[in-house]
Amino acid sequence: PLGQEPEWLSRLNPPQREAVLTTQGPVLMLAGAGTGKTAALTARLGNIIGQRLAWPSEILCVTFTNKAAREMRERVGHLIGPAVEGMPWLGTFHAIAAKMLRRHAELVGLQNNFTIIDTDDQLRLLKQLIVAEGLDEKRWPARQLASCIDRWKNRGILPDDLDAGESEAYANGKGQHFYRLYQQRMLALNACDFGDLLLHVLAILRRHRDVLEQYQQRFKYIMVDEYQDTNSVQYLWLRLMAQKGAGQPANICVVGDDDQSIYSWRGAEVANILRFEQDFPGAKVIRLEQNYRSTPHILGAAAGLIRENSERLGKQLWTEATGGDKVRVIGVWDGPEEARRVGEEIERLEREGLPLDHIAILVRAQFQTREFEDRFISIGLAYRIIGGFRFYERAEIRDALAYLRLIAQPSDDLAFERIYNTPKRGLGDKTLEKLHRYARAQGMPLAAAALHIADTDELPARARGTLLALMRDFARWRDMERTSSPAELARVVLDESGYTGALQAEKSAESAGRLENLTELARAMEDYESLGSFLEHVSLVMDNDANDDTEKVTIMTIHAAKGLEFSHVFLPGWEEGVFPSQRSLDEGGLASLEEERRLAYVAITRARRQCTISHAANRRIYGQWTSSIPSRFIAEMPPAHVAEESSLSGGASLWRAGWNDRADPFAHVAQDRPQRADHRGPGWQRASAQPLAPARRIAENTRSAVSSAAKPRLDLRKGDRVFHEKFGSGTIAVQDGNKLEIDFDTAGRKRVLDSFVKPA
Ligand code: ATP
Ligand code: MG
Repeated sequence: PLGQEPEWLSRLNPPQREAVLTTQGPVLMLAGAGTGKTAALTARLGNIIGQRLAWPSEILCVTFTNKAAREMRERVGHLIGPAVEGMPWLGTFHAIAAKMLRRHAELVGLQNNFTIIDTDDQLRLLKQLIVAEGLDEKRWPARQLASCIDRWKNRGILPDDLDAGESEAYANGKGQHFYRLYQQRMLALNACDFGDLLLHVLAILRRHRDVLEQYQQRFKYIMVDEYQDTNSVQYLWLRLMAQKGAGQPANICVVGDDDQSIYSWRGAEVANILRFEQDFPGAKVIRLEQNYRSTPHILGAAAGLIRENSERLGKQLWTEATGGDKVRVIGVWDGPEEARRVGEEIERLEREGLPLDHIAILVRAQFQTREFEDRFISIGLAYRIIGGFRFYERAEIRDALAYLRLIAQPSDDLAFERIYNTPKRGLGDKTLEKLHRYARAQGMPLAAAALHIADTDELPARARGTLLALMRDFARWRDMERTSSPAELARVVLDESGYTGALQAEKSAESAGRLENLTELARAMEDYESLGSFLEHVSLVMDNDANDDTEKVTIMTIHAAKGLEFSHVFLPGWEEGVFPSQRSLDEGGLASLEEERRLAYVAITRARRQCTISHAANRRIYGQWTSSIPSRFIAEMPPAHVAEESSLSGGASLWRAGWNDRADPFAHVAQDRPQRADHRGPGWQRASAQPLAPARRIAENTRSAVSSAAKPRLDLRKGDRVFHEKFGSGTIAVQDGNKLEIDFDTAGRKRVLDSFVKPA
C-alpha cells in the first residue's frame, strides 16, 4: 500500500516514480542534465531488489566509470539496508565483459587466465607485426593501425567481416590482413586488448545459443546509465541479452541525454537512443524535466547554448530553485593571470567556509592543467587531478625532463636509463647491461661509462656509433645551456633527439595531445632563467604528494566529469582553438563543432551553485604572445544569464551581435542586463618579455663528471694473458689507462675495457 512507501521513493517526482515502478518491459528515460536520471536508476535498482523481483546477482547494471558503479552500490545499500549483497554484475562495460569472457574464454580460443594488455603493449605488438611483414613503420605507423582496429572493434566488426573499402584505411588495403594477423597473435599470446573484451563476448553469444540463453535467463533486469555514449558493439551486446524472444518481456531500462553525447570519437553513436524504440517495441519513454541540481541562471545559460545545435531531440528543463548568481565570464590578460584569478577565487570561497572538494576546475584538454598546478603549488592550495596523470608525471613530460636532467646533471643515471633508447634508436638491453657493469666496476655514472665504452670494440659498431652520437648531442646541448634560455634549449633538445619527430610520425589523437603537452612544458620553462631553477621547481611540484585525506580542489577534464556535480565549477580557457578545440575547427565539420558544444553543455551543467568561465586575451606560444578570441560558446549563452567581468575591451561582445531575443525559457529569472566592467587587470603590466640573465653554469662543473678519467686495474699489465667474454683469449699489447689493446688469438687486435677482461 502507498502509505508504507519508503521515504526515498515518495521523494521522487511523478515521472521518476513511473520509471522506478515500471518493472515490466523496456523503459527509456530521456532527459536533460541534473534531472535525476541516475538517481531514478538507482532507486529502480533498490526497488527491484527490495521488492524481491530479482536477486542482486540477477541484475546487469552498466555504469560509465568504476567510480559510478561504486557510488551506485553504496546508494542502493543506503536505500534498502545492508541486506543487499554485492552486485556482481554492476560495473563498466569493460569490467562486465572481462568477467564474462573469463568464464567462456575457451570458446574463442583463449585460456581463462588471459591477460588484458594496455595501449603501449598493443602498439609494441603491432610494430613487430608491421616490421615482420616488411612494411615501413614510419610510413604506416602502428598507431594508425591501432586506431583502425579500435574503430572496427567498436563497431563489432571481426577481420572476416571487413569489406575492401574498410581495409583501405591502412597501408593501401592491407588493413584486413594486419587485423587478422594481430588477432591471431593475440590468441597465441593468450591476451586481449580492451576492444577485444566485448568483441569476443559478442562472438560467443552469437555462436553459442546455450551460453546466450543462460545469460538471458540469468539477467532478469538490464540497466544502463549514460546510454547516449554506448557504441555499436555495446549496443549489439545489450540487445542480444535483452531480446529474449516470444512472450518474454525485455526488461531493459536505459537512461541518457542526447545533448551529453561526447564520445563519438570513441565510436559512440547517439543514434542508439533513437533505435531503442524500434528495437524494443512498446518501450515506455519517460521524460524528466525538473532539474534538481543547478540554479536557474546556470540552466538558462546551458539551455541557450545547446539550442545552437541542430541535431537534437529537444527537451525542456525547469527548476523550482530560485536565486543564485549569473554565470560569470571573466576575461583576463593571459594564462598566468587566469590561474591567479581562479586561485584567488578559490581561496576566498575557502575562507567563506566552502569545503575544497565542492570545487572543480574542468578543462577541455589535459595540457591546461599545468598552469593551475603550478599556481596552486606556489600558494599551497590542495588539489587532485582525476582521470589522468598530473602534468609533470605524464610519460612524455618525464621523458623530456629526463633529457634536461641529464644535461644539467650527467651523473643522473635514472634519467640516462629513461632516455638512452627513447625515442627508439636501436640500443638494446644488452648494451645497457654492459654499461651498468662497467659503470659499477669503475664507480662512474652511466653517461661517463657510455663515453668510455663507445671508444672501444666492446659494442657492435652500430651501437657504438649511436651511443657516441648521443653523447656528442649531450655535449652540444650542455654548451648550448650556457647561452640559451631553458625553453629554447628544451625545444632544441626535443627536436634534435628525434623525440618530437617520433611523436609527429605517429599521427594519432593521443600523440597530438602529447605534443601539446610538450609545447606546454616549453611554455612553462619560459618563466625560468636557468635550467637549474626550473628543475628545482619541478622536483618541488612532484613532491607535493600530500596525504589523501585532506579536502582538495578537483582538476579534471570535462570528459571525465560526466555525471558528476560540484557546488562551484571553474571553466578556464574558453577561447577559439582551445574550446572549441583547434582540431574540431580544422576538421571544419558541423558534427565536430556540435560535439564540442555538447561538451560545453556538460561542463556548465556540472555546477550546482556557481559557474565561472574564463578566457585569456593572450596565450604565450613558442615564446610569442598570440592573441586569442573568446570562444563562440560564450556569446551563445543568453546574455540575461551571464555576467561579464572583462578587463579587456571588445572581448566576448564580438560575438554578441548575433544574439537577438530568441525564446529564452529562463528569461523570467533574469532581472537585469549583464554589466561589463571595463577596468584593466594587473595583467597589463606583464606584456613585456623579461631579458634573460646568464644561465647558471651547471654545464661547467658537470662536464668534469663525464670526462673524469677511469682508474686502470692494477692486476693487468702489458704482456699478460687475459680472457675477454666476447673475443676470447689474448695478450695485452698496449695499456692506456683502463683501455687495453689486446692481440686476440682468433679475433685479432681489439680495443677493449679492462672491466671486461679477466686474467687468463
Ligand atoms: P546527469 O545528466 O548530469 O548525469 P542526472 O540526470 O543523472 O544528471 P542526478 O545526478 O541523478 O541527475 O541528479 C542530480 C541531482 O538532483 C542530485 O544531487 C540528486 O540527488 C538530485 N535529485 C534527483 N532527483 C531528485 C528528487 N526527486 N528530489 C530531490 N533531489 C533530487
Ligand atoms: Mg547521471
